[in-house]
Amino acid sequence: MTGPTIGDPADIIRLASPDEGAPFVLRGATVLTLDPGLGRIDGGDVLVRNGRIAAVAERIGDLPADAVTVDATDCIVTPGFVDGHRHCWQGSLRRLAVDADLAEYLAITHDGVARHYRPEDMYIGNRVALTGALDAGFTTVLDLSHNTRSKAHADAVFDAYRDTGIRAVHASAPPNAYEWEEHWPDDLGRLRDLADAQPLVTLRMAIDMRRVRPVEELMGIARSLGLGITMDGVMGPGSAEELTRLGRQGFLGPDVTLIHATSLSESAWVEIERAGVQIVLATTSDEQLSLAGGVPPVQRALDTGHKPGLSVDVEISLAGDAFTQMRATLLTQRMLAVMSRTAGERQPEMLTNADVLEMATMSGARAVGLADRVGSIAVGKEADLLVISAQGINSLPGGNPVGTVVQGVDRSDIRAVFVGGTLRKWDGAVLGVDLPDLRARAETSRDHVLSAAGFRIGPNGPEGVPELQDAWLREYFASHD
Ligand SMILES: [Zn+2]
Repeated sequence: MTGPTIGDPADIIRLASPDEGAPFVLRGATVLTLDPGLGRIDGGDVLVRNGRIAAVAERIGDLPADAVTVDATDCIVTPGFVDGHRHCWQGSLRRLAVDADLAEYLAITHDGVARHYRPEDMYIGNRVALTGALDAGFTTVLDLSHNTRSKAHADAVFDAYRDTGIRAVHASAPPNAYEWEEHWPDDLGRLRDLADAQPLVTLRMAIDMRRVRPVEELMGIARSLGLGITMDGVMGPGSAEELTRLGRQGFLGPDVTLIHATSLSESAWVEIERAGVQIVLATTSDEQLSLAGGVPPVQRALDTGHKPGLSVDVEISLAGDAFTQMRATLLTQRMLAVMSRTAGERQPEMLTNADVLEMATMSGARAVGLADRVGSIAVGKEADLLVISAQGINSLPGGNPVGTVVQGVDRSDIRAVFVGGTLRKWDGAVLGVDLPDLRARAETSRDHVLSAAGFRIGPNGPEGVPELQDAWLREYFASHD
C-alpha cells in the first residue's frame, strides 16, 4: 500500500502525542481545501502548528526548525469528514439487524435493550462507534445521545470521547422510553462544564422524539445556556406542523439543525428557509429503515440555498462510513432528478461529486456548529485532516481527485487521520487501540443488554423481540407517517 511516509519513526510518536503539539508539514499532496478561495492545490503543502493550520500553499519554504515532514506525494489531503448525527451508544449493536425497518429498530433498541444499558455499556458502545468513525475518516461526530439514563451514563460517554481522541459534539437528549433519572434538562449546565474541560468536545441540546417539556421551553433553556439545538425532524405531519408553528412564532433560527427533515410540508420548508435552519440528511436510514416515506429531501434541502450535512444515524442496520453517505446522496438526487425530467417536470441541477464532498465536510461542520473551527483547510482552522492514498489499487493510476475520494477509495486508503493536529490513525490503523480488548468488551456488553432484554441472537439478528410495548413509542410509531 502506498501512502504518506515519515523519515524518523520517533516522529510518529511525537505527532500522536497531543501534549507535544509538534509542528508538521504535509508535503507534496493534492490538497482539496474545501475553502472557496483556495480550491484545489496540486503538489501542495499544509503546515500545522499548535494544532492549527498555519499555512497552505504550493510550496512552503520557511518551515519551523522542529517541524516534522510528512511526505504526502501521491496522496490526497482533505478536511476530516463530519458525521452530522449518530447514536454512538448503539456501537456494540453494529450490524445486528441489517434488514430491520423502523418498527423493528425501535423494538430492539428504545423499547428493548436501551433501559438495560449501564454506564459501562454506554462507554463501550461509544468507544466502538467512535473508533470506527475515526478509522473511516470522520474527525467529528455529532453523538445524538438519547440513552443517557443518568448522570453516570453521560459521564461514561464523555470518558469515551476523551479516550478515543475524536472531535465529539455531544447532543444531549433524554431516553425515549421507560424509567430514567430525570436529570435532564437540569443536567445540561453540568454537561457544558464537562464539555468545556475537553478541548475536542462541544455540547448541544438534542430535541428528539420524547419531549419532557414543551419544545418552546426546551429551546429557551438551550439558548439561555448558549447551546445550539439539534432536532429530529422525522415525524411526518407531526414534525411539519410543529416546525411551521415554531417558525411562525419566531423560535427557529440558524442555531437550529434539523435531522432527516423527511416528509415535511412546504409550509414547514418555507419556515426552515426563512429562519436559516440547517439540515442534516440521513439518506441511508430514511431509505433503508423506511422512515417517514423513505425519501430523503435532498433536493428540497438544496433548494434552501445551503447544502445539507450528511449522517450515518444507526450502525445496527447501516454502514458507518462517509463514502456510503456521499454516494447514496449523489445517487438519490440524480435518480430523482432524472425521474422528474422524464415526467416532464422541473429539471433540477445534477448534484456533483464536489457537492457531496462539501456536504461531508464543510456543510457538516456548519450543521454541528463548528464551521469556524473545522470543515475546510484554511489558515487558522483546527487541523482535522485526512491523508488518503491515491495510488493504491482502488485508485491507481489516479483520475479526478474529488471523484477518487468520493467514489474510488474506502477506509483502508485513509492512511493518516489528524484531529486538532494530533495523529490518530497512521499506516492505516487507529493508534492506541487494543482491538482484541475492545472486541471482548463490546461482546460482553452486547450479550448483557440482549439477554437482559430477553432476546437471543439468531443467525439473522435478535430473536424473541416482541411488538412495541411502550405506549408512547407505539403512539410515536403510529403517527410518524
Ligand atoms: Zn437518528
